[in-house]
Amino acid sequence: MKKLSPFSRRDMLRAGGAASLLAAGHVLLPAGSFAKAPMQDAQVPGFFRFHVGAYEVTVLSDGNLILPAAGLATNVPEVQLKGFLRSNMRSTQSRVGHINAALINTGAELILIDVGSGSNFQSTAGKLAENLEASGYSLDQVDKVIMTHAHPDHIWGLTDEFEDAPRYTNASYVMTAADWDFWTAKETASKVPATIQGFAIGARKHLLPIAKKTKMAKANEQILQGITLVSTPGHSPGHSSVLIEQGDDKLLITADAITDAQVSFEHPDWHPGLDLDPEMAVKSRKSLLKMAAAERLTVLSYHLPFPGVGHVAARGNSYRWVPSSFEWAIPG
Ligand SMILES: [Zn+2]
Repeated sequence: MKKLSPFSRRDMLRAGGAASLLAAGHVLLPAGSFAKAPMQDAQVPGFFRFHVGAYEVTVLSDGNLILPAAGLATNVPEVQLKGFLRSNMRSTQSRVGHINAALINTGAELILIDVGSGSNFQSTAGKLAENLEASGYSLDQVDKVIMTHAHPDHIWGLTDEFEDAPRYTNASYVMTAADWDFWTAKETASKVPATIQGFAIGARKHLLPIAKKTKMAKANEQILQGITLVSTPGHSPGHSSVLIEQGDDKLLITADAITDAQVSFEHPDWHPGLDLDPEMAVKSRKSLLKMAAAERLTVLSYHLPFPGVGHVAARGNSYRWVPSSFEWAIPG
């Protein structure tokens, strides 16, 4: 009969090894573990590419923002908003706003539309420059930056905080005069609600260094052949969406006339907390949704789930978001 031993030779070796590891300050691993893989806590590089006619469009993720759910609608009873969110299986406390910027290669110029939040807004955002490089381009290749409006998540990425200098060294810039003038005026910080005073202070910090390289655009101005601003004021005084046209192939970039994949479509007359002139924003949102649905436009929306590309479908008196993931396969 084989004599039972409390320890096998393998156990003794493991114990000896473990003892030396412990002596060296390592953590004792359970039997069978050879490596302790650290959690990566990150997603894959965020970019998504498609074409509009001859233009190549790359959606660049700047990450996302975590925002209070109450900011989705300030003109309806709390119980109504919470009921809507609950029926859509969503949190009634917070919401995630993705940040999807467009990088357009026209063949002649590389044009970035909005630059994300930079490193000083929310820790979950500020990844646009990193994703631009992951997508195969470099920051100094950007020829032109079009800014839809001067909120932090759209312009604070203008500055390389480490260098304390403009990040896109070879770019010229475009913004509507209406938004530039409002957000760079010294007195704006004392005029806007206290919760967004920092937006005005930040706008001066990030915009004034590029003043000489910035073209002040008029509402609805054509920036170049096939790229036209579409005036959608309300969220911000000179807020603009952008229409890309290549023959029959079109892309509507909404910026923040639309901010939520459900609320903005199903209840376009609800007032998001960050719309500075809510009634004007409702008018802009409704006309943009109507145009997108009627013309069956492909739409890229800044805060919808990445990559924020899809269509707007009419549904009775309101609309619904139809993500393009229904149509696009992953290239193999
Ligand atoms: Zn925004």
